[in-house]
Amino acid sequence: MSLNRRHFINLTSLGVAGFSIKGFANTSSNKSIKPIVISTWDAGLNANKGAWAVLGNGGSALDAVEKGVMVTEDEKNCCVGLGANPDRDGFVTLDASIMDHEFNCGSVGFLERIKHPISVARKVMENTPHVMLVGEGAQQFALSQGFTLESGEMSDDAKAAYKQWLKKSTYKPIINVERKGSTAQLDAKYIAPHKLDTGEWNHDTIGMVALDAHGNLSGSCTTSGAGFKLRGRLGDSPIIGAGLYVDNEVGAVVATGQGEDVIRVAGASAVVEQMRQGKSPQEACQFVVERIRRIKKEKANDIQVCFIALNKDGAYGSYALHKGFNYAVQTNEGAKLVESPFIY
Ligand code: ASP
Repeated sequence: MSLNRRHFINLTSLGVAGFSIKGFANTSSNKSIKPIVISTWDAGLNANKGAWAVLGNGGSALDAVEKGVMVTEDEKNCCVGLGANPDRDGFVTLDASIMDHEFNCGSVGFLERIKHPISVARKVMENTPHVMLVGEGAQQFALSQGFTLESGEMSDDAKAAYKQWLKKSTYKPIINVERKGSTAQLDAKYIAPHKLDTGEWNHDTIGMVALDAHGNLSGSCTTSGAGFKLRGRLGDSPIIGAGLYVDNEVGAVVATGQGEDVIRVAGASAVVEQMRQGKSPQEACQFVVERIRRIKKEKANDIQVCFIALNKDGAYGSYALHKGFNYAVQTNEGAKLVESPFIY
């Protein structure tokens, strides 16, 4: 039994009340379920508040994970949404995905000038026979669903960062790409979430997973991808099974970090499968992070990859390749930021 689960049970047996929802039960085991939401990085603290406004009132995990990450998408000059860093051509392009407890899922990629990609992803899930829409088609679909076309102007922070990037724009051949006729050459250092002088990791994503009082799991993920990426690049976040996966019998997992390396191992799905084999959320995340380290060999020094996982019983955990990843947790007992365990 995990520590988290034990903690919940102890509190229950002590009669610690707190949560006011009555009458909900996990249909599979009839245990009483305490809602919980967890999300990546410290921006998750605010995002979780948005999710908790839904979960704490008996709402569904699906509504919670949409509303939660919308808070971050709304933040100006943030790492996510239209305020985020652009691609190397100066355009902000957004990816997002959402998945519920019944394997329904939707995603958008390379979406421009739409404020809430997570809500477009949900509309893809609910109002189309498809799972994924990208680019112009995704934008057209968003407009048809009543979303507004925003100006496309960069936020002040993004403008400053882009100006700075254009100044340097040295080409480092980790990925051997050179664009003829472009003044902005590729600096591969900016393709990956990279280590800042402060020792922290630059990141551009919020991922969230939640369990509601009905015992149902859902997850969401929204991002501007990697800052100064090649135009057209998609990361793991809009790819169901890579950046996000939910199996209501087992658990929900979301990834952040170098998307290419999460895609390579079908990361979120791989973590869920490890939980299915009996691993705790943290052990399952660690197993897949270690697999990525083995694949990348010494190149694992240059990238960050992190997973957070929540299982059907409300136990949660995480693992990161490098130090510096944290995630936010919200239950009826309050909010906290947790430093993730890591390899390096
Ligand atoms: N996983 C995201 C991507 O590769 C980036 C991030 O998490 O910061 O697009």
